[in-house]
Amino acid sequence: MKGCDGREGGGLGVDASVIQLEFSRRYSMAHRLLGDRTSKCAIPHGHNEIVTVRLGTDLPLEFGDRNLVAPFDVLKRRWMKWIDDAVDHSFHVSLRDPLVTHFTTDEADLQTRLMTFDGDPTTEALALAFAMKLTAFLHAAELPFRCEQVAVEETPTNRVVLERAWDLGACGGWTPGQWATRADMSINDLPPRREASKAASVQATVLSHVDGGHYGQEH
Ligand SMILES: [Zn+2]
Repeated sequence: MKGCDGREGGGLGVDASVIQLEFSRRYSMAHRLLGDRTSKCAIPHGHNEIVTVRLGTDLPLEFGDRNLVAPFDVLKRRWMKWIDDAVDHSFHVSLRDPLVTHFTTDEADLQTRLMTFDGDPTTEALALAFAMKLTAFLHAAELPFRCEQVAVEETPTNRVVLERAWDLGACGGWTPGQWATRADMSINDLPPRREASKAASVQATVLSHVDGGHYGQEH
């Protein structure tokens, strides 16, 4: 491994383990926690949060040309697209929350906006989900980075920091194959909604009301 003096291997090299890359993204979310019914958090409420991820690599940084450890714009785009498209304005719920049933049966068109957790959707659990998803993106893109740290700023005064984020085995949480471990845009593992039958049923109801003069009677 090269030292900062660059003597080993010829060119001016830096041990890249001393270099870490960070990027942040802001999003809005809502959640509710069921663990304490007397808590304000038992009522659905929202936060504007910022997630900051820190990446490390073992690749050496060679000065004199591009001066990059490795290009990470592809990864950054994918991560931020997931935050923007899937996480932003999502609703975080425990799988034991009765609201899950409400969404899957009565508002199935919105169920993709649910981020599901085995237990309460705390900021700690969210940080773990972020670390697992980012690690999945890194592996899928075969990028030589590891997720060193995930920090979630829930409010300007509350921040959860997950260190050694690549070492997730001891953390529990999601098992391989579940949404947080997959390199896709998912935020839950709910079965796909029965789109066609639901749409047909709604359509039939509307037509029946129109045919029966329902709207005229209401007014
Ligand atoms: Zn909250």
